[in-house]
Amino acid sequence: MPEITHPSQLPAVDKVLQAPGLQPLRQTYGLEACTQAVREVLGGLRQQLLGGGKAPLLTDPASVVQAAQQRLQQRFAPRLRTVFNLSGTVLHTNLGRALLPQAAVDAVVQAMTAPVNLEYDLEDGGRGDRDDLIEALICELTGAEAATIVNNNAAAVLLVLSALTSAGERREVIVSRGELVEIGGAFRIPDVMTRAGARLVEVGTTNRTHESDYRQAVSGNTAALMKVHCSNYAITGFTKAASDAQVARIAHDSGLPMIVDLGSGTLVDLRAWGLPYEVTVRETLESGADLVTFSGDKLLGGPQAGIIVGKKTLIAQIKQNPLKRALRVGKLTLAALEPTLRLYLNPEKLAGQLTTLRLFTRPQADMQAQALQLQPVLQQALGTAFVVEPAPMISQIGSGALPVESLPSFGLRIGNQGGKLSRLEARLRQLPRPVIGRLHDDALWLDLRCLEEAMQATFAEQLSLLKP
Ligand SMILES: *Cc1c(COP(=O)(O)O)cnc(C)c1O
Repeated sequence: MPEITHPSQLPAVDKVLQAPGLQPLRQTYGLEACTQAVREVLGGLRQQLLGGGKAPLLTDPASVVQAAQQRLQQRFAPRLRTVFNLSGTVLHTNLGRALLPQAAVDAVVQAMTAPVNLEYDLEDGGRGDRDDLIEALICELTGAEAATIVNNNAAAVLLVLSALTSAGERREVIVSRGELVEIGGAFRIPDVMTRAGARLVEVGTTNRTHESDYRQAVSGNTAALMKVHCSNYAITGFTKAASDAQVARIAHDSGLPMIVDLGSGTLVDLRAWGLPYEVTVRETLESGADLVTFSGDKLLGGPQAGIIVGKKTLIAQIKQNPLKRALRVGKLTLAALEPTLRLYLNPEKLAGQLTTLRLFTRPQADMQAQALQLQPVLQQALGTAFVVEPAPMISQIGSGALPVESLPSFGLRIGNQGGKLSRLEARLRQLPRPVIGRLHDDALWLDLRCLEEAMQATFAEQLSLLKP
C-alpha cells in the first residue's frame, strides 16, 4: 500500500461507498448513516495527516470501510444494556431495581403492540379511568377503601402533600425530626414539602420524639400528621418514636388525616419466607393511617410506580388535584403492575413466580454450588495475577428496604496477586454483558445471588474474554 502524506490523496467518499465491503453495511444501516460514518472516518484521517501524522494510517477504501463499520456498530448499539448484577444488592436502584415476573413481561408486550382499554369502559362504551383497572385488586390486597397510581413513590408523596395542603389555610404538616430523611438523589422530605406547597412543622429531636410533641404541635393551621419510614438508615441506642397508631389517634382527635410514607411497602408478611419482618401496607392502614404511599418496584417486585391507598374521600380529593394528571402512569406500567399484583392472590406460589422474592429466598447452598463451579473457570481466565476463591458473603435487599437486615449468600472473592483490582473491575464492566461486582476490603466480590441458574452458562462463556 503506497504511503500517503497529504489529505488530497485520501479516497473520495463516493469511492468508499462503492467499495464491496460497504454493501452489507448499507443493507443494515442505510445509505445516510453509512455516508456519515465514512465522512467522519475520512475527516479524522484528514486531521491526522494535517497534524503531521504518518503510519499507521490506513487510508485505502477497505480500511476506511472497516473503521466506518466500527462507528456504525457503536452508533446503533443500545445504550441501555443488560448487565449481570453481582453487586450483592438485589433491588439496586442504579441497576433498575425489581426484575419483573414473566406474567408482567407478557402483559407489557401485549399492551405495546395492541390497543387496550386503558381509559375505556367496556361495559357501557364510555370513557373510563385508568386507576379503575387495578384499584379493586390493590384494595383487596391491602384492605384499603380506595387507591390511585402515579409514576413513583416520590410523586405519590408530592401529590398527597399537595392535595392535602392546597385547599384553605391549613398548610402545616407535622413530622418527627428523626424522619426528615433523604432517600437518595434529590428526594428529601423537607424539600418535597416545600415543592408541594406544604409547611413543614418539625417535632421532637433526631433520636426521640414523644406523643406529646405531636399533640402540642397541632394547631388551627395543621393539615396533616405524617410519618416517614426510615428506609435507608436506622436510629439505635437511646431512641423513642411514637407508633403509627399513636400518631393516628392524635390526628383523629383533631379531625385531621394521618399519612405514612412507607417507601418499600410490602403486601405480605415476609417472615413466612424466612425473611426479616417489614411492616405491611395492610398493617399500616389498620394502625389508623388514612393515606399510605409506597413504591411499585421495591419489595412489591413490580414496575416503577407510586401507589397511594387509603380513605375514599381523601383519594377522591387527590385524584382531583391537577398534579395527578401530570404524574399519572402510562399503559406499560399498568400492564406490568396488574399481573404482578395478581400473583399475591396465591401466596403459596409467590416465591416461585415473583422474581424478587425468588432472589431474596434463594438458599445459600445454591449460590455455594455455583461458586464452586465457576471458581475454576474464572481463575483460569484471570491467570496468576489474581486469586479467585469461593466465599460466603452477605447480600442486601437494597433500595432502602430493611437497611440493617441482610441475606447470607455465597460468591467469588477475587484477591490480587500482583494484578490491579480496580482495572479488573473495569474489565468486567466492559464485557459484552457487563458484570457489576463490588470492590471492598482489598478484594473484588461477585455475589452470585442474582445469577440465576438459567444465566450461569452465559456468564461463564464470556469470562474467557478476560484472558490477558
Ligand atoms: C424509596 C422511597 C421513596 C422514593 O420512592 P421512589 O419510588 O424511588 O420514588 C420515598 N420515601 C421512602 C420512605 C422511600 O423508601
